[in-house]
Amino acid sequence: MTAEVLDIQDLDGVGPVTANKLREAGYDSISALAIAPIRELVEKAGLESSVAHKISKAALGSTNLDTLLGGGLETQAITEFVGEFGAGKSQISMKLSIQAQLSAAEGGLEGKVLFIDTEGTFAAQRVFQMAQASGQDADKILDGIIYSRVYNSDHQILTVDHAFKICKEENIKLLVVDSILSHFRGEYIGRESLSERQQRLNSHLHKLLRIAQALNLAVVVTNQVQANPQAFFGDPMRPAGGNIMAHASTHRIMLKKSSQGLRVAKVIDSPYLPESETYFRITEKGVEDAVPRNKRDE
Ligand code: ADP
Ligand code: MG
Repeated sequence: MTAEVLDIQDLDGVGPVTANKLREAGYDSISALAIAPIRELVEKAGLESSVAHKISKAALGSTNLDTLLGGGLETQAITEFVGEFGAGKSQISMKLSIQAQLSAAEGGLEGKVLFIDTEGTFAAQRVFQMAQASGQDADKILDGIIYSRVYNSDHQILTVDHAFKICKEENIKLLVVDSILSHFRGEYIGRESLSERQQRLNSHLHKLLRIAQALNLAVVVTNQVQANPQAFFGDPMRPAGGNIMAHASTHRIMLKKSSQGLRVAKVIDSPYLPESETYFRITEKGVEDAVPRNKRDE
């Protein structure tokens, strides 16, 4: 998600003293540590073998949103970011709209973006700011985003019905719907309308998936949480949209606010991504990986 390289001191098991030893020996980044043979860490940096093992493992396993997503966004699939208001769903959607346009070598999908905004929270200035901060040509990035504000669920459905042609003609590689359910939830209130809502949602999601598959593009949707009255244990909040939503999403990632101004992203339902979690921070520059203080020991 971000090219921002964490400091080696952010790794599990690396305090200031060890960090200095490592830097003096020429290991100044996590990626350098990740590929260094353990024997070398022992000999060159004068570390205990057990410490070197631990650090090597931490460097290799240093998760960020990228690794959580298995190296980037998957095409021909729907990736769903779920979370309460302010969790960071729209910020991540905007960040991914930059990422998708980069070259494959930079972790991108080398195409344009169709951004369907149901809540009016897309901010071009914010995308500009993030693009600039990551060293991209911000004007070009904005030009590569086709923006569509939709005002109700009919409008949203119609927009996706017409999206295939646009996506094909414009080489769209990422289609974002932020957020997928807000209009549906606002318009269909009460038990008696639930099954109609779910039917329309189901067909809407299947159209998105068909576009993703036919054009080999990635679909990202955001979703809200709702109270789960059956939860006696564990998390009382669950993704909105029930089974229809759960079945349509290939990957579900739950976002939560955490302490120290950090946020947690957790894979909650995925056919092959590990049930991992990672911390991130929303900053002026964008979405950056982070490590909470209690995970930095020594
Ligand atoms: P969601 O879409 O899940 O409701 P957002 O993605 O809109 O949430 O996240 C909103 C949060 O992002 C804000 O509460 C704020 O903390 C953070 N944020 C937005 N812009 C910036 C910025 N320029 N610098 C730092 N934090 C920001
Ligand atoms: Mg939002």
